Amino acid sequence: MQIAQIRERLRQAGAAPIHERHVLRQWVQGAAQTRKRNPEDFLPRSLREALPALQADLAALAALRSVHPSEDGSERLLLGLRDGQTIESVLLPREGLCVSTQVGCAVGCVFCMTGRTGLIRQIGSAEIVAQVVLARQRRPVRKVVFMGMGEPAHNLDAVLEAIELLGTGGAIGHKNLVFSTVGDPRVFERLPRGPVKPALALSLHTTDAALREQLLPRAPRMAPQELVALGEDYARRTGYPIQYQWTLLDGINDSPAELDGIVRLLRGRYAVLNLIPYNAVDDLPFRRPSWERARAIARDLHGRGVLTKLRQSAGQDVEGGCGQLRARAARLKAA
Ligand code: SF4
Repeated sequence: MQIAQIRERLRQAGAAPIHERHVLRQWVQGAAQTRKRNPEDFLPRSLREALPALQADLAALAALRSVHPSEDGSERLLLGLRDGQTIESVLLPREGLCVSTQVGCAVGCVFCMTGRTGLIRQIGSAEIVAQVVLARQRRPVRKVVFMGMGEPAHNLDAVLEAIELLGTGGAIGHKNLVFSTVGDPRVFERLPRGPVKPALALSLHTTDAALREQLLPRAPRMAPQELVALGEDYARRTGYPIQYQWTLLDGINDSPAELDGIVRLLRGRYAVLNLIPYNAVDDLPFRRPSWERARAIARDLHGRGVLTKLRQSAGQDVEGGCGQLRARAARLKAA
């Protein structure tokens, strides 16, 4: 279901724009909104009568299948969608939530479990928001990152529709909505035009165009220099720095030549480089560098003028790589 369809249903039930905003806010923000106003005081009767059926449909968009808490305070949630597909969301420390935008993914990053399945289906904008609604039943959410399963640029209309609702009626600041992409020309065209301009995270992983083609085989062919130039332009326009994501793969993208390439490309940029040591995945040949090595790399880059943060990916003690929970659930179902 798309948010546009919810709006249409509300209009057909007699909702004026103010009523539409109220009902959508109530859905996304939950009880806090409900307490503020009594619907009987201002919603038309026809709408009040239509609401229970709509609310039941919204509640059925996604159901919590299992919760996997981690020592770092994050919680991986396995969610079931109405057609039986499963997706993952991750509650992050400090009131963050990572949501999925597709079931599967067509980019096919060779180190990613989700990439192995290919694209199974798009996630509707209402299903994206439903992940926030479900997460808020467990704890407050003030930041949403679109970094779960899927490539948001490949489901752009739905992701932007969800971002617009979360940024206008979801009590989430625009810079706390983080659109993550491997880089796609359509993103740089559409994001600056939207009413809500999210922060941008670009998955770079290497500065070597040929290696990037191997690691991200079906990402749009954009040279790292072009990506960074477009990212810099967006960062200057919005006033918040670009986040460059770099999954550190032992012996693959951590060589001295790569580090020199990072310095050439990112020194002095309005950007943060997030180094994320790889989460090992069964059956995949990639390794995680030691934490000491990762720390030395971060220190080196920082010393050479690249604002660098070393990050753990959340929940790595509970099959933390994106797509692993879903893959395990599918294996159990097949067994
Ligand atoms: Fe898709 Fe992201 Fe996995 Fe790449 S890392 S295959 S873009 S989900």
